[in-house]
Amino acid sequence: ALVVRQRMKTSGRWARAMSIVKEFEEKCGTPEGKLKQVADAMTVEMHAGLASEGGSKLKMLISYVDNLPTGDEEGVFYALDLGGTNFRVLRVQLGGREGGIVHQEFAEASIPPALMCGTSDALFDYIAEKLASFVAEEEQMFQQPPGRQRELGFTFSFPVMQTSINSGTLIRWTKGFSIEDAVTQDVVAELTKALKRKGVEMRVAALVNDTIGTLAGGRYTNKDVAVAVILGTGTNAAYVERAQAIPKWHGPLPKSGEMVINMEWGNFRSSHIPLTEYDHALDVESLNPGEQIFEKITSGMYLGEILRRVLLKMAEEAFFFGDEVPPKLKIPFILRTPEMSSMHHDTSSDLKVVGNKLKEILEISSTSLKTRRVVVELCNIVATRGARLAAAGILGILKKMGRDTLREGEKTVIAMDGGLYEHYTEYSTCLENTLRELLGGETTSSILVEHSNDGSGIGAALLAASHSLYLDEKSS
Ligand code: BGC
Ligand code: MG
Repeated sequence: ALVVRQRMKTSGRWARAMSIVKEFEEKCGTPEGKLKQVADAMTVEMHAGLASEGGSKLKMLISYVDNLPTGDEEGVFYALDLGGTNFRVLRVQLGGREGGIVHQEFAEASIPPALMCGTSDALFDYIAEKLASFVAEEEQMFQQPPGRQRELGFTFSFPVMQTSINSGTLIRWTKGFSIEDAVTQDVVAELTKALKRKGVEMRVAALVNDTIGTLAGGRYTNKDVAVAVILGTGTNAAYVERAQAIPKWHGPLPKSGEMVINMEWGNFRSSHIPLTEYDHALDVESLNPGEQIFEKITSGMYLGEILRRVLLKMAEEAFFFGDEVPPKLKIPFILRTPEMSSMHHDTSSDLKVVGNKLKEILEISSTSLKTRRVVVELCNIVATRGARLAAAGILGILKKMGRDTLREGEKTVIAMDGGLYEHYTEYSTCLENTLRELLGGETTSSILVEHSNDGSGIGAALLAASHSLYLDEKSS
């Protein structure tokens, strides 16, 4: 009798666990019809954000970039790329029309977590120090003549209200950064002060979002690039808009007739977006509740955390990992998206990788193959929803641009970058397939997705190049 009761109990647990999975899957559903509604909502919000400041959840920020790189850029330029978990310093030598990128070096460092929640001075001092040692090394190596004005493109991947091409105030932090005294400050002024404190002589010639940098870097090598999307720790998109289609822009009409817009699509939200109890709980407990909802279900900082929350519920309510709830499973953000990705991509017949990850990260000592299969299924549900929604967002942009249908002789290239896109193959494949599905077959020859590897740093250097000339004109 005891044996029988035990068995019933076990099968009851399994049934309960499966019903949690099933409900989650249903709530995450993204049928084509729903994605089209999301795309339309995105288009509507784009219009609203362009119409007036504060007119939409989509900030549609004016970048002051009205000319993208042409290929004529020449000289040595620096870039500083601060955005997610890492930051980089670059030095790029541009050879003009014939030369292209003659030479480039970079150094990379991670941002110590304490600095992500400290003071503005501490963060910028740290960055300035790294830049100082990069420059010192390079001076030694290249024996640069002293007195040359160094020009820097600053990629700062947070929402900024620009006041010119090289100034702008921080609207708010995202992605785990929370440095109160920097909000509303001019980030270029903050950086410039730090550079002075550390004795680095450099002029910030351009302040750009990573999407803008990626668009510029993409355009440098492919003239059909008109949209850039970042899917990394956070997510965002930028595109080339007609200046006349921006009612809130009261400045002079640029000669090109164009203006690049930083959408800040991470903050998009719509009733058509499928949200679950896990997403709501994640949002409420986050550093920025109520904000960046689109980002919280599509980007790398959060996917692993959503998975953890579902597994925790299954452990608590269905004893999915045995009688005890694994203590590690209760720790927020312990399950990172790269780990989720490697579980999702486990091709071994016994799901060895999944087993090892569960052991290493969550200290769950032994799991059945059946259990591991369910974990993979959950990875798939979370990643699929994110990737399909990102594709819907891209469709929304293409619609706004009037480029969602085939037009003779016209190509539209979307430059993509970010660790999630680059490394999570199931995700990026799903995104690309979904975009194809949404656009319909005939457009696939004219709308292309391209990986722009580390375009954002090079793009900032390119924009520093074109705008350093502009700054000189202005001051002379
Ligand atoms: C930021 C954007 C940025 C994106 C990708 C978001 O959290 O708000 O400015 O472009 O992450 O790095
Ligand atoms: Mg890369």
